[in-house]
Amino acid sequence: MSAPFFFLVISTIYNRNCMRLSKAFIPTVKEIPNDAVIPSHQLMIRAGMVRLLSAGIYSWLPLGYKVMKKVCDIVREEMDAIGGQEFHLPALNPIELWEETGRVKAFGDNLFHVKNRPLVLAPTHEEVICWIAKNHVESYKDMPQIWYQIQTKFRNEPRPRSGVLRGRQFLMKDSYTLDATWEGLDKGYDLHAEAYKKIFTRCGLKFFIVGASSGAMGGSGSQEFMLESDSGEDTIALAEDNSYAANLEIATSLVPKAVRHTESKSLEEIHTPNVKTIDELAAFLKVDHSVLAKSVVYWADKTPVLVLLMGNDELNESKLMSVMGTDVHPIEAESLFGLTGADGGSIGPVGLNGFKIIADKRLEGANGLISGANRNDYHLKNIDLQRDCKIDGYYDLRTVQAGETAPNGAGKLRIVRGIELGHIFKLGTKYSDSLKATYLDEKGEAKPIIMGSYGIGIERIIACHIEQNHDANGIIWDKSIAPYLVHIIAVNMKSEKVVEKAEHLYNQLLEVGIDVLYDDRPTTPGFKFKDADLLGMPLQVIVGEKNLANGKIEVKIRKSGERILVDVDQSLMKVKELLT
Ligand code: ATP
Ligand code: MG
Repeated sequence: MSAPFFFLVISTIYNRNCMRLSKAFIPTVKEIPNDAVIPSHQLMIRAGMVRLLSAGIYSWLPLGYKVMKKVCDIVREEMDAIGGQEFHLPALNPIELWEETGRVKAFGDNLFHVKNRPLVLAPTHEEVICWIAKNHVESYKDMPQIWYQIQTKFRNEPRPRSGVLRGRQFLMKDSYTLDATWEGLDKGYDLHAEAYKKIFTRCGLKFFIVGASSGAMGGSGSQEFMLESDSGEDTIALAEDNSYAANLEIATSLVPKAVRHTESKSLEEIHTPNVKTIDELAAFLKVDHSVLAKSVVYWADKTPVLVLLMGNDELNESKLMSVMGTDVHPIEAESLFGLTGADGGSIGPVGLNGFKIIADKRLEGANGLISGANRNDYHLKNIDLQRDCKIDGYYDLRTVQAGETAPNGAGKLRIVRGIELGHIFKLGTKYSDSLKATYLDEKGEAKPIIMGSYGIGIERIIACHIEQNHDANGIIWDKSIAPYLVHIIAVNMKSEKVVEKAEHLYNQLLEVGIDVLYDDRPTTPGFKFKDADLLGMPLQVIVGEKNLANGKIEVKIRKSGERILVDVDQSLMKVKELLT
């Protein structure tokens, strides 16, 4: 036997052996692991896909790694399809590079430092990409470029939990566009948005897109691809048809504004003994919440700020923070009394000195309002915000509530939890400015390269797939990323007939290139069925004595639970048909 042929036979046998559960290393666990709270975490441990090494650090075992490779293949195909060129960049980066962009400070404790060299472990790769561009992209003719890699990132996440959803070491597809024009950036960004839709759809995920503001990173547009899940860490306001989705921190809705009556009656003080809350006030005065102006008082740095909201509307601290441009926190009861001579429930905008007074847009220009009189147990009636007080500005300051109409009119909003799968970001020239990565334009002038940055969490795709596709018994893989497509169960390994049929089908499937896992363990049928449901391959083929006696085998579709009896000699054909 010639050497290569011998090698081929050996490797085929080894490969085939690995797909036999009697030989495979797939350590399944019956019990729910103590530290695992969310379904994907529990199931990935129970199905023997991953094992925790240390907080936020996971070993990927063969079954899990098989899925990871399938996901990476899909990501690669779609990145290649938009003209992406694959790199492999170093995870160890010189710290100077990170100092130049100010990100040693920006990442803070999240950045892993190396003890015995001035190096950091890269949490992302804008710096290295920009460094390469600076040194090797010379002219506008060298662009556009789309550069990507699938590589391990390191982030010292403070509370790594939720399994691989938030690891300290994780695999990211990160890509970067380099352009000479802003139109070029838009194009690269749109290409990524389309590629991301294809990737997540192919991975069997039902996602939605959140248009986030460009935030502190200094770009001009970004979107997050998210998945609805109770296991998520973000809170999102989502329209019924997903056409509007925004982080609760910035979400808006269509809510009626306060009315401005033609006549503005004169101010009147009313005695409201022991009335503290808006609900109590509405009940006591028998009025609608919409005529009540609630006051909440915050410190914005050292300035006391009175925020007026309609009725029971909830102040959104993030919105307040961006209006004030500084950190904010609620004022302490003693300071409030010291500054106003009244307690929380009796504060109002009229005659209040030394405060910045801002109001929610819902109250813009309203009159006929009731608010605190800055005297305990008293309120003022007929307040006209234009006549009686100096409002420093009207802003969107309220938190949207479930059931309100989406700002685009697309039905009612739901407030859901979400997991971020990916992020696309128009960086602009932030990094090329700080690293002086320039190109020569048509006139020979040096200009900063215009960049975009785009990330996808590979582990998150896998965990999210499980979050969305599981039941009480285990995982339910989509064909696209299932580690194996078919799971053969030989019900009784003592029966020669059963073993013969199961082996035959196993070999047939391998020959036609269908990924198959074969449970050939000498254990009880109940144990095998439980494992098959836990591991979650799309099709289970059950080879048992009783059915064989009638010339049949059973095929179970994991997703629907449907069981189909198939003639033994038709089994390969039927399996192929069910997989298409
Ligand atoms: P998050 O807000 O969840 O921390 P991020 O904004 O820090 O995410 P990016 O820097 O945009 O994330 O990274 C791109 C992608 O990498 C994310 O969309 C996510 O899918 C993935 N990712 C980020 N941090 C982690 C992590 N700690 N573990 C696993 N995947 C991660
Ligand atoms: Mg993060």
